[in-house]
Amino acid sequence: MPKRTTHTYSSEDARPDGPESELFVYYCKHCASHVLITDTQLQKMPKRKTDKAYALDKNKYLARLNINESGKVLLKRGEGKLEKQFRMACIGCGLFVCYRSEEDLESAPFIYVVDGAVSSISAETNPQVVFMMSLGLCKVHLSVKKRNKREVQV
Ligand SMILES: [Zn+2]
Repeated sequence: MPKRTTHTYSSEDARPDGPESELFVYYCKHCASHVLITDTQLQKMPKRKTDKAYALDKNKYLARLNINESGKVLLKRGEGKLEKQFRMACIGCGLFVCYRSEEDLESAPFIYVVDGAVSSISAETNPQVVFMMSLGLCKVHLSVKKRNKREVQV
């Protein structure tokens, strides 16, 4: 386990699995709309060789998406090989930010995040997360809401 340099929650706020309760929020680099909340850092995820997209394993990590579906695309990957992408676009500007290989988002094992499409900020310092949770978009991370309630007027 690599040493983490960012702050972890106190025992009072932590989820049962402890220090893994850190959240990372990723924003569209183009318009700064929220795209993804996850509990790992994309930079630590393996990258695909073909397009350098980050492969986020949904079985291991939280992947809470805030996107518009933008359709299915077939890509040629070498001789006679076709790759299916179900693309997802930024809600704010419509830019292609991530994709998956299965039509059904729930059963897709990976979310591929387009290289350079998003930027991150730690969730605990980010008022927008609290705002989103107040809209019911993010119900599992009440600890963040609790922590920030006094500092952020929603
Ligand atoms: Zn955008």
